[in-house]
Amino acid sequence: MEFLTPEKLNGLSIINENQKVLCPHCHTDDIYGHGIYKGRKRYKCKQCSKTFNDFTGTAISGIKKVDKFQEYIELTLESVSIRKASKELKISTNTIFAWRHKILASLSMINGNSFIGIVECDDKQFKINEKGSRKLDRKAYKRSSDRKTKRGISNDKLSVMVATDRKGNPLMKIAKMGRIDSDSVEKTIGSFINPSNILCSDSHPSIILWANNKELEHHTFLASKQHVKNQCYHVQHVNSLDNRYERWIKPFYGVATKYLSQYLNWFVFLQKIKKSSEPIKEFAKIIMANIKTINQYRNIEREYEKLNIPHYLRT
Ligand SMILES: [Zn+2]
Repeated sequence: MEFLTPEKLNGLSIINENQKVLCPHCHTDDIYGHGIYKGRKRYKCKQCSKTFNDFTGTAISGIKKVDKFQEYIELTLESVSIRKASKELKISTNTIFAWRHKILASLSMINGNSFIGIVECDDKQFKINEKGSRKLDRKAYKRSSDRKTKRGISNDKLSVMVATDRKGNPLMKIAKMGRIDSDSVEKTIGSFINPSNILCSDSHPSIILWANNKELEHHTFLASKQHVKNQCYHVQHVNSLDNRYERWIKPFYGVATKYLSQYLNWFVFLQKIKKSSEPIKEFAKIIMANIKTINQYRNIEREYEKLNIPHYLRT
């Protein structure tokens, strides 16, 4: 059973059908065929003269046990734990761990598509978790005065923007340390919103400000008050997305903040793939199509540093 070949993945829809083969080194499409090596099409780039094959830059690049890797892709669809996958495939937990994060890095382009119609959005707070971090040489300042700010404890947490339209197009993206502001709302969901979208939210002042700036029609709700306006405006879909995420993430026993965006991509992908009749093939196609995966995988640490988590929270 080999499904990780471009020929077998034709005719599937989740990514751009007309995706061009690009040079994974300099990203031009100025390339030509360069024969076949070990059953894989090879290319040479006219710009940078480097050769590459169909897998260069993707999660599959450099994987030796491709058949096991394919089986692990299926287990990823089932959200199987690293320990269980390691047992089942007879592959070390370290290798499975690396495979998991390469596969999840390929999903970054799935998290966020143009919204259609009514969009419900919300912000969600996550505690900082440095599980598994190698950087334990930092001093942990735990004076209570470090934690107290005029806005209270939520500055200790990482904010994630959660949004969904009614067409099964969810998004969950890290916004910033502390409370969201209109800039972080723009950064996370701004490029997926257009003037015809109608926004529903839970009255967060930063979302209200952002929606005003965008001149969006915006309906706001308070948890304690009216829940539905005009029979169609409400935030029930985004709330249920939140609840599904909580149920899904629970068996992972606390995700390290460093990997949070990877898990958000995973969860969003699982929501989107639900309706697919060929989820494994769709998944394989996404993995094959993302030639920036290995770069993204190597940048996990750097992206984490960009979150500017105060030292006293790194416990
Ligand atoms: Zn090139």
